[in-house]
Amino acid sequence: MPDIIKLLPDSVANQIAAGEVIQRPASLVKELMENSVDAGSNIIKVIIKDAGSSLVQVIDDGTGMSETDCRLSFERHATSKISTADDLFSISTKGFRGEALASIAAVAMVEIKTRLHSDEIGTIVKINGSKVELQEPVSCPPGTNIAVKNLFYNVPARRKFLKSASTELRHIINEFQRVVLAHPGVKFSLHHNDKELFNLAQSNIRQRIIGVFGKSINQNLINIETDTSLVKLNGFIGKPEHARKTFGEQFFFVNKRYMRHSYLHKAVMEAYQNILPPEAIPAYFIFLEADPATIDVNIHPTKTEIKFENERIIWQILHASVRESLGKFNIVPSLDFDNEGIIDIPPAGREPAEMPHIKIDNDFNPFSEDDRYKRDPNVRAWEKLYGGTDTEDQNRIIPDSKNMGDIHGPEKLFQVRNKYIICSVKSGLMIIDQKRAHERILYDKFINALKTNTVVAQKSLFPKTLELDQSDLAILSEIEEDLKNCGFDVRYLGNNTISINSQPSSSMNEDPREMIEIILEEYKSTEKDPGDGNRDKIAACMSRAAAVPYGKTLEIPEIRELVDKLFQCTNPNYSPSGKAIVSIITLDELDKKLR
Ligand code: ADP
Ligand code: MG
Repeated sequence: MPDIIKLLPDSVANQIAAGEVIQRPASLVKELMENSVDAGSNIIKVIIKDAGSSLVQVIDDGTGMSETDCRLSFERHATSKISTADDLFSISTKGFRGEALASIAAVAMVEIKTRLHSDEIGTIVKINGSKVELQEPVSCPPGTNIAVKNLFYNVPARRKFLKSASTELRHIINEFQRVVLAHPGVKFSLHHNDKELFNLAQSNIRQRIIGVFGKSINQNLINIETDTSLVKLNGFIGKPEHARKTFGEQFFFVNKRYMRHSYLHKAVMEAYQNILPPEAIPAYFIFLEADPATIDVNIHPTKTEIKFENERIIWQILHASVRESLGKFNIVPSLDFDNEGIIDIPPAGREPAEMPHIKIDNDFNPFSEDDRYKRDPNVRAWEKLYGGTDTEDQNRIIPDSKNMGDIHGPEKLFQVRNKYIICSVKSGLMIIDQKRAHERILYDKFINALKTNTVVAQKSLFPKTLELDQSDLAILSEIEEDLKNCGFDVRYLGNNTISINSQPSSSMNEDPREMIEIILEEYKSTEKDPGDGNRDKIAACMSRAAAVPYGKTLEIPEIRELVDKLFQCTNPNYSPSGKAIVSIITLDELDKKLR
């Protein structure tokens, strides 16, 4: 058999490798902005067309490059930032792999003009799909101006997989934010389709945060600062009462590099324990400085996770530092939320929750109930599912019998800690998660509205306004129409502000602003292609936001309706996000507990 292995031509190898580094237009923004920062720029301008699919251009006033360097910079593993393996342990620049420009040039059309400050004349290079089309002297200002056009023009399969413009723009804005927050000393601007989205003057960290997130964040910021031999940290944390239900204002930076770190995120969350509204996430902008030798940024070109040598100790330091700042601002003691409605299990030492009244309903009439079963298809449906209500049971747990008169359906229903609905069924005790049950009901309703293009009944509101950042606004404009079908009327007022004019009449969330935040958060945390899948996603986000929250006391008729409607759903067992709604503690299990 002849030999069959051959070396791939560079252009193909580069295209394959590019897949690692360049996933979407936002990757271009990140890599090019980082190069400009590494080049010591004071002013960096980012210009985007069509959410980056036709153009991503970055203009800086940094060092610029010589003609030879400019040409070389597009070779794979061509970098000025490290030269030996040892250098990997003392990295102070954003880049060091020498892969970005080679990758970009493999999958797009690139034109770069660059000039050293000491030179009279600059260089222009044009490369399309790794092929150099032009290289010659040009007159241009000192610094670098690189324009990347038609990303993935030569990889149609990848171009096809770009998401909607607003999604791509949102990714771009996220990357932009990460770089600009880490470098407040640099002036940045971002333009999209000739509209200026950001213009950030040279400033300090606080001013930069305000520049990115709007003035209203100012009174929310608490300073945090700790200096240890292992790590220095400074920055800002948000006041707990301002914490939103959405991610988007949580930033860690290590040595001016954005990172994600779920373990350290927990350190912050734990420091806020018991002082946050339910499900809220505090804002934080925390800058860590550590000896580069003790961190590993080398995991993967596009991963933002970073490993620390002394992770546990840093966890402790961070936790203590956040606690201390919260304490200094008198936040920890003054804001201890009533436990009711937030947490399921009371912390040790507190009185246990009061048990609901247990009464026997002496007027109970199994025959009339049987009668009703024949009429009411819902009850039959859930009888089928769960073996029916326990009509013969002598030890029934029922709510106060005076409330029972006007209720139909299986009456042994009550609410536990404003979170679970309990009812007695033939096989034992059924537990229903009230929020998930309502999510399921709403989901079915919204999905139906979206599919049939009908509008769900609206409850009009005294308009409420809400300030959002650019990336959230980008999402909203994408889903505005669908939200309207679900009964949510949102208008953009300009100045980063929206007004909320109506919400679905079936919503049990009293706060429309919070609903918007939940919708945005849910939307961001699930990636799906536009089209049919997007309906699922919107219905799921909406149901999450409009569902009855934990902590809400329900009247018996409300509980009844919730349970009835749940068992009309095609899938009453699982919430739209796949979590169990219903569970049964069997009689056997109950017997065992009391054995
Ligand atoms: P890396 O940043 O990992 O070194 P890149 O492919 O991003 O790799 O860039 C290759 C080299 O090109 C850099 O090391 C740097 O010397 C040079 N370079 C890239 N962008 C700029 C810029 N905007 N200004 C000056 N030099 C640049
Ligand atoms: Mg780089």
